[in-house]
Amino acid sequence: MNLFDVYSLFDVTPVKAQGCKVWDDKGQEYLDLYGGHAVISVGHSHPDYVKALTDQLGKIGFYSNSVINPLQEELASKLGKACGYEDYTLFLDNSGAESNENAAKLASFHTGKDRIIAFHKSFHGRTSGAVALTDNPNIVSPFNSHHKVTFCDLNDAEGVEKELKKGDVAGVIIEGIQGCGGINLPTTEFMQALESLCHKYGCVLILDEVQSGYGRTGKFFAHQWAGVKPGIITMGKGIANGFPCGGILISPEFKAVKGMLGTTFGGNYLAMAAALSVLDIMEKEDLVENARKVGEYIKNNIPASPKIKEVRGRGLMLGIEFNEEVAPIRKALLFDKHIFTGVAGKNMVRLLAPLCLTMEQAEVFINALKEVL
Ligand code: PLP
Repeated sequence: MNLFDVYSLFDVTPVKAQGCKVWDDKGQEYLDLYGGHAVISVGHSHPDYVKALTDQLGKIGFYSNSVINPLQEELASKLGKACGYEDYTLFLDNSGAESNENAAKLASFHTGKDRIIAFHKSFHGRTSGAVALTDNPNIVSPFNSHHKVTFCDLNDAEGVEKELKKGDVAGVIIEGIQGCGGINLPTTEFMQALESLCHKYGCVLILDEVQSGYGRTGKFFAHQWAGVKPGIITMGKGIANGFPCGGILISPEFKAVKGMLGTTFGGNYLAMAAALSVLDIMEKEDLVENARKVGEYIKNNIPASPKIKEVRGRGLMLGIEFNEEVAPIRKALLFDKHIFTGVAGKNMVRLLAPLCLTMEQAEVFINALKEVL
C-alpha cells in the first residue's frame, strides 16, 4: 500500500533529536527552528519528558473517559496556575482543529446562535468544521462551505460590529497571532474592542492559541499581551511536546451539560503524563521568559538586506517577510546550513523554534542567514 500523497516532502529522514537539534539517517546534524509546526515546546527528547511518558506507559496507557483519571485533574490544576486562568474549566481533546470545533460548538450551545465570525488569512485546522473557519480557498470543500461563517478583516472593529449587530453570531474566533496566514498581529486596541463587542452583543470571544499559545510569544498565551479575557481559549501543538493532545479553557459562565462534548482519546493517561511533564519543564527552565528573550534577540538581529521587507512576531513566533519568494532561501538554510525553518505563504520564512532555543543557537541562525543572503 502507498501513502496518500498529500504532503510536499524534503528529502530528509530524521531519526534522532535532542533539545533543538535533529539528526538524519546519514548522521547529519540540523538546528531545528521550526519544531514540527510549533509542536516542540520543551525541546526534543527532554530526559524528564521521556521518563514521564515511559513511566506512565508501564502503569496504565489507556482506559476511557467513563472512569476517574486523576492526571486530568492534576493537569487542570497546574495549567490553571501556569496560565493564570484558575477559575476556568478544561476540556481535553486531541488536536488544534478538534479544539476549535469544540469551541465553536460550545459557543453555539451557550448562545443558541449559529453563525461564527472569523478573519481573513485565518487558519484554524483541517477537519471539516475547522476548515470552515479557515480563510484559505485551497482547502475548503463544497461541504465545508455550508457552515455559517463570515470573514472580517483583522483589526477592523467596525466591520466586526456591523456583523454582530445582525444578532445571530455565536462567537468570534481569532488567532493570538495569525500563524499560517503570515504572522499577522491583532493590535491591542482591536483585541480590547473585540472583547467589549462580544460582551455587548452576547457572543463568545474564542482565542485560538493553538500555535501562539503555551509560552511561544513570551507570555503563556499571546492574547495576554493585550490584557483581554476570552470566553474560550483553544490549545494544541506545544501542549504535550509532540504527543497528540489538545484542549479548551472555558470561562466560568459556561454551564457543563453531560454529553455536550466528548472524545475517545482526549485526556488519556499518556497525553496527560506528557502534558504534565511539559508544564513542569517549562516552569523549571523558565521557558516562557526564554522564548521572549531569545525571540526578541533574533528579531532585533536579523541582518539588514534589501531582500527583507519586514520582520514580524513575538517571542519565538517570528516571520521574516521577503520581497521575493523564499523557497531558495529556505532550501539553502536546510541543505547548506542544516537549519530547519518553515514558511507562511510564498514570501515568508516562519520560525517556530522550541522554547528552549539558546542565544548561541540564535546566533548560529543569524550568521547562517547573513551568509545565505
Ligand atoms: N489553529 C491554528 C492557529 C493552527 O496553526 C493549527 C495548525 O497549524 C490548527 C489550529 C490546527 O491544529 P491541528 O493540526 O493540531 O489540528
